[in-house]
Amino acid sequence: MRIEQDIKLDFKDVLIRPKRSTLTSRSEVDISREFVFLHSKKKYSGIPIVAANMDATGTLEMARALARHRLSAALHKHYSDEELLAFFAEPGAGASHFYSMGITVPDLEKFRRIMDKANGTITNVCVDVANGYTKAFISFIHKLRAAYPEITLMAGNVVTGEMTEELILDGVDIVKVGIGPGSVCTTRKMAGVGYPQLSAIIECADAAHGLGGLICADGGCTSPGDLAKAFGAGADFIMLGGMLAGHDECGTDFVEVNGVRKMRFYGMSSREAMNKYSGGVAGYRASEGKEVLLDARGPIEATLQDILGGVRSACTYVGATKLKELSKRTTFVRVTQQLNEVFG
Ligand code: 5GP
Repeated sequence: MRIEQDIKLDFKDVLIRPKRSTLTSRSEVDISREFVFLHSKKKYSGIPIVAANMDATGTLEMARALARHRLSAALHKHYSDEELLAFFAEPGAGASHFYSMGITVPDLEKFRRIMDKANGTITNVCVDVANGYTKAFISFIHKLRAAYPEITLMAGNVVTGEMTEELILDGVDIVKVGIGPGSVCTTRKMAGVGYPQLSAIIECADAAHGLGGLICADGGCTSPGDLAKAFGAGADFIMLGGMLAGHDECGTDFVEVNGVRKMRFYGMSSREAMNKYSGGVAGYRASEGKEVLLDARGPIEATLQDILGGVRSACTYVGATKLKELSKRTTFVRVTQQLNEVFG
């Protein structure tokens, strides 16, 4: 047994220190980014925020709403071949959104089938598993990269520099970072495994950037300020679940609780998801996600304005005219309290 003594940090443990700047208004800030991916060599241009590939957030409606602001979605896995092919054939869809899959045999078969008919419209692919440290996951990545050299591959999840490097060397363009920080994730409670998300981002971004790769910070953002901190820590992309849940675009079921309409939001490894897709929780495993009931929040538009406004504001406080400069201009201060909770 070993204990690492240096303190690892979460979003709540830091604030971004303001810096002198000549910027006068948030409107002068450009929060889009351009990348050329390491392996696919494809170009990306947009606001690098991606809806999580969960039932509630990785929907076609969400993807279309986000695309109006140049954000992206990773579609959830449960659309049919036809639905996916039709969606990716829409103008611009393939350049910004991600097809997503796990690493099972049916996942790969479905992907092959769809790619054969997609006429090159699907270019971004997200492969994710709860634990990106397994041999099965790495061999799947090898196999996929060998068969599809031209796709932009986002894969994970991991939380450490050495595994980030390994994945980039294996052909991943964007390593997805985060184990346990999610809003409906119970991995830390059930397995005791995880890594504070801000430190995971800092360490994985450093490892990825050293090799010319990128990372996507996945999970744990609870407010626009958390996104600013994630970008400040070096995240190239950010994936959001909970912050986008509960909106009209989520296509989730409504339930009535004491006469109030609530929207269901559940983890993709929760009992609720396993009941829906896998005929229940298998005897040898525990669920590692939970379900919450949210107040309906209306259209995503207002929430998006808040998120984008918050990130722009962070840029003005540190004098970054472009999102790309935010991490270079970020100094975090460790805090013992970040919010005034007097009004709850
Ligand atoms: P959020 O933005 O809600 O904090 O985090 C979203 C992320 O949580 C997803 O992108 C995914 O990585 C993770 N996640 C989603 N469902 C589950 C689950 O059931 N269990 C765990 N451990 N993680 C989940």
